[in-house]
Amino acid sequence: MPELSVVIPVYNEKDNLEELYLRLKEAMEGLKKDYEIIFVDDGSTDGSAELLDHIASKPGSRVTVVHFRRNFGQTAALDAGFRQSKGQVIITLDADLQNDPADIPRLLEKLEEGYDIVSGWRRDRKDDFVKRTLPSRVANWLISKVTGIYLHDYGCTLKCYRREVVEHLTLYGELHRFLPALASHIGARVVEVPVTHHPRIHGESKYGLSRVFKVLVDLIVVVFLLKYSTRPFRLFGSGGLISFGLGFLMALYLSVQKLMLGARIGHRPLLLLSVLLMILGIQLASLGILAELLIRIYFENQGRLPYVMSYVVSEGTTTKVNGAS
Ligand code: UDP
Ligand code: MG
Repeated sequence: MPELSVVIPVYNEKDNLEELYLRLKEAMEGLKKDYEIIFVDDGSTDGSAELLDHIASKPGSRVTVVHFRRNFGQTAALDAGFRQSKGQVIITLDADLQNDPADIPRLLEKLEEGYDIVSGWRRDRKDDFVKRTLPSRVANWLISKVTGIYLHDYGCTLKCYRREVVEHLTLYGELHRFLPALASHIGARVVEVPVTHHPRIHGESKYGLSRVFKVLVDLIVVVFLLKYSTRPFRLFGSGGLISFGLGFLMALYLSVQKLMLGARIGHRPLLLLSVLLMILGIQLASLGILAELLIRIYFENQGRLPYVMSYVVSEGTTTKVNGAS
């Protein structure tokens, strides 16, 4: 069993792979620990797949390649890599040589200090300012604010994780970047370390500005998962109650006018608003009840727990308990 697993998502990076492998190998050999390298070929069409197989075929390469049938995206690739990996510590980095494998030992040192996730911070980022660095600054500020986990650089793939904290998290959409926030919610200690960043020399970036939008939409999901995933009725129910209550008060006011004062209320916009708010309130509350049922199915069907234990001490023996929601 290797101690360290390096997971690398690859999508059309043919001209970067050989040098990446050499530099990675150099960095990993220096650590004097057992390691494995897992490349996840995310449906490459430029010959990266064959090149990776060639690298993996050499005896002693320590390389495993996971192939996707088509391009499923970087998050899916990382998730597949996590599942394939066996090390107690998992290191992720990009395949395009923008991250520097030489930073890995420093990240691991930090992890040894007792952290569960060490996240790279591209302090001096070598990307287009308008298309990349600026939107990413805004996104990082917003993500930090709403999740309460303050990081300068959520987007840096160069990170290392203790196995326990990623083991039971399935990643969807662009969620890999939120791993520190999700993990810290289940008690992981997260720290940031400045890392070197290089401009991309071979190949092209796979993302445009549309990613910013996707990340923002995912952020809404993350906030919901963090705050309400075990008590969805709190969100939907209170929204529903407020809406229904307001609508009800308006209806009451209109009824009093009609019944006591004989006013005509058929043409009043307030009537429409009142009906709308009451229906909305009932809808939200029903949605909340459905969500409550769904999370029960989610947890009970899969044997999941809505909390995470750390360890159990019993008559002098300490057992570490793994298992996250
Ligand atoms: N990548 C991937 N699948 C995709 C897009 C990207 O596996 O659909 C990989 C890509 O090969 C690289 C990493 O994810 O190793 C980051 O991609 P890129 O360098 O294009 O992102 P940027 O650095 O511009 O944010
Ligand atoms: Mg890149």
